[in-house]
Amino acid sequence: MTVLALDIGGTKFAVARVDASGTLLDRAEHPVGQSPTATLRGLVADFAEPGITGVGIGSAGPIDTVAGTVSPINIPRWRGYPLVAAVQRLVPGVPVSLAGDAQCMALGEWWRGGHSAASLLGIVVSTGVGGGLVLDGRPWTGRTGNAGHIGHVLVDQDGEPCVCGARGCLETVAGGPSMVRWALAQGWTLATGRPDAKALATAARDGARIPLAAFERAATALATAILSTAAVLDVRDVVIGGGVAASGDLLLAPLRTAMADRAGMPHLRDLHVASTTLDRDAGLYGAAALALLASKTPLARSPRIPPSTLP
Ligand SMILES: [Zn+2]
Repeated sequence: MTVLALDIGGTKFAVARVDASGTLLDRAEHPVGQSPTATLRGLVADFAEPGITGVGIGSAGPIDTVAGTVSPINIPRWRGYPLVAAVQRLVPGVPVSLAGDAQCMALGEWWRGGHSAASLLGIVVSTGVGGGLVLDGRPWTGRTGNAGHIGHVLVDQDGEPCVCGARGCLETVAGGPSMVRWALAQGWTLATGRPDAKALATAARDGARIPLAAFERAATALATAILSTAAVLDVRDVVIGGGVAASGDLLLAPLRTAMADRAGMPHLRDLHVASTTLDRDAGLYGAAALALLASKTPLARSPRIPPSTLP
């Protein structure tokens, strides 16, 4: 049994064939380009062999799993785009499942990331902050498909306005552009180049005071949101991926400290926080897992696998 996995990001699309044991058979990715629909068609056409038994899609949001539509913020040409119907036309006769990209990251990590716990909270810290939940072995998508969206957990009741319309969401503190905005407001300056999240991480690694404080502030907000979520759900394993998280210990070290400082209840004192082990493929594994679950195929978990070396 082989399923097709699609990872619809804001800047690139990735596709892979994955078998029921969770082996990534092949993969490809392509920049979204001028015509996202043509890019999708091209990628799927190359991979949709007759033996495919299902398709799973993880997409940047907002998404509507009931309508099967997506409106990725960075793809203005897709607003309410009927992605599920489009893929159904490209791969006729097989079920097509859709979930958020961070939900797929969480599910992929749960399945192939070598974690032993039955439940897992996955968090993507990038331009925005997303998240997904696996509870007792099932992806928990909620009523509208948006469960696990930790980026909009409130961490500061008097905080900055968020793109979502609320105020003081985690994303307004820990999202890459928010961290940069805060650092600039504190007086951070760059001699050359664009002051973006990457430059902020480089400066922090070099020991610059304000960039380090920006990471510490983001880590503290993240700790607050994680502890609040874990207090409700009693999950132990937390996996963090995404561009800002790729700065590794710059974020993880102050995060672990902030969590240790703030954890009260006994079940919140031994949370396992780790970086993603599957890197860029976590979302593809999660999308494949969605397709397998849709066909009632149990997900056999196995020891951690190294990130693929496929192109
Ligand atoms: Zn928000």
